[in-house]
Amino acid sequence: MASDHVDVLIVGAGLSGVGAAVHLQRECPGKTYAVLEARGAAGGTWDLFRYPGIRSDSDMFTLGYSFKPWTNPKAIADGDAIREYVRETAREYGVQEHIRFHHRVLRAEWDSATARWTVHAHRDDTGEDVAVTCAFLFTNSGYYRYDEGYTPEFPGVERYAGRLVHPQHWPEDLDYAGKRVVVIGSGATAVTLVPAMAERAGHVTMLQRSPTYVISLPSRDPLADAARRWLPAKAAYAVTRWKNVALGVANFQLSRRAPNLVKKFLRRAARGSLPVGYDVDRHFSPRYNPWDQRLCVVPDGDLFAAVRAGKAAVVTDTIDTFTERGIRLSSGEELPADVVVTATGLNLLALGGMTLAVDGAEVDLASTVAYKGMMLSGVPNFAMTIGYTNASWTLKADLVATYVCRLLRHLDDTGQQIVTPLAPDTTDLVPIIDLQSGYVLRAVDRLPKQGPAAPWRLHQNYPRDVLLMRHGRLTDSGVRFSRAGTPATVADRPAPVA
Ligand SMILES: Cc1cc2nc3c(=O)[nH]c(=O)nc-3n(C[C@H](O)[C@H](O)[C@H](O)COP(=O)(O)OP(=O)(O)OC[C@H]3O[C@@H](n4cnc5c(N)ncnc54)[C@H](O)[C@@H]3O)c2cc1C
Repeated sequence: MASDHVDVLIVGAGLSGVGAAVHLQRECPGKTYAVLEARGAAGGTWDLFRYPGIRSDSDMFTLGYSFKPWTNPKAIADGDAIREYVRETAREYGVQEHIRFHHRVLRAEWDSATARWTVHAHRDDTGEDVAVTCAFLFTNSGYYRYDEGYTPEFPGVERYAGRLVHPQHWPEDLDYAGKRVVVIGSGATAVTLVPAMAERAGHVTMLQRSPTYVISLPSRDPLADAARRWLPAKAAYAVTRWKNVALGVANFQLSRRAPNLVKKFLRRAARGSLPVGYDVDRHFSPRYNPWDQRLCVVPDGDLFAAVRAGKAAVVTDTIDTFTERGIRLSSGEELPADVVVTATGLNLLALGGMTLAVDGAEVDLASTVAYKGMMLSGVPNFAMTIGYTNASWTLKADLVATYVCRLLRHLDDTGQQIVTPLAPDTTDLVPIIDLQSGYVLRAVDRLPKQGPAAPWRLHQNYPRDVLLMRHGRLTDSGVRFSRAGTPATVADRPAPVA
């Protein structure tokens, strides 16, 4: 078994892990690091998902890194452009040489006596088990299972003679030209797939149990186009990024404070994009409030255009059973289908499935409390990236990486070695992800919690988090700094939250 040591071990070479490595190089130049990546290539989500039309549904000026301008003219970008952006970043900043591919991290064990993690990984390419020790463990492993998407149990599915496909495992050989396709689902993936497949399919039906808010945005950003003409790339990027941050925050706050107004606006916008007499209330007016689940963005209204052109239809109903030739609905209607795509979601997975132990005791994630949304109570020298649910993931990922670098510098400057969040003395805890989406609700009892107030509360507000994470104090009642030899489990808890 090979073993070696780095100052910081990053898990995952997706958008976040590559970004974290760049932050570390720039903001803590003396630190040694390695990135362990389970797959054979960088890019994470943007390498895994290959379904037709795969694209972002956030704008790339906020999904891009703070340090590397997004220069592609498309604001809502295709998956391969995002994958290339991540890989280009890894090459340009020399991160590539630090990535160890085919290393699936299984377990990490913290030892307070030496102030070190021992991280165990399995090499999928050689079958070898390896161990790496590090002073700080930084997981950037995304939030869902890579090996299996979520598919509910559909009655009669075994009888279905057509092709059944999950978007997470898109078959390269799938030829759907001229075929009748049913896409089950109403989330971001379904609304992406339907217009993309409608270009070649005979007809595409989006079958949803209940509607989602769908909003059309231009795929190109006129302000970004103008800014790029007049300003240097970095300044143009910053202007567009902050404009989009401001719009995003305003949209979210308005949705929270005046949900009925936002509902009316979204309904009117959908009605204006659909044929006269279309049943907007049935198919595009959810029962929940905007941002109780993520809004679905469609670039240039492509979904609505496919419906208007008669190439796609939306059906809101439940599945009675699959038949040999398609799907029978509870209403009795039959949807014939040569291909059924189950755009039914992801299986949430914390920390890429790895287990943690601290001084020999197993860490039960569900009983930890997240500190500033990025560290876990009772777990020393550990941080994880979980992006925003109401804004682009990378906005938060950048802040988390910067905060980790500040912490590392603080440890060095003060002669300390260990930073451990201490759980607040309160039972007023809520799930770390505050969305009502099915994939969150299915996993919520296995995830860390968050507390009622800062620093145990996630703000989901980028400008506020910029102040907290880039400029806020590193020392507060939620963390303890110490030297090797101090046990991680302590009796001295911070004061109860008021
Ligand atoms: C289809 C789809 C579209 C999305 N669109 C958007 C969007 O428009 N805007 C937005 O903000 N967010 C979007 N998201 C969320 C998206 O996942 C994030 O934007 C972002 O890609 C997350 O990057 P990440 O690096 O944190 O995680 P990932 O992209 O999931 O990368 C994690 C990496 O860690 C590796 N890894 C995981 N576990 C281990 C382990 N145990 N050992 C070693 N390596 C491991 C994985 O192999 C992977 O390479 C989308 C998600 C999906 C699935």
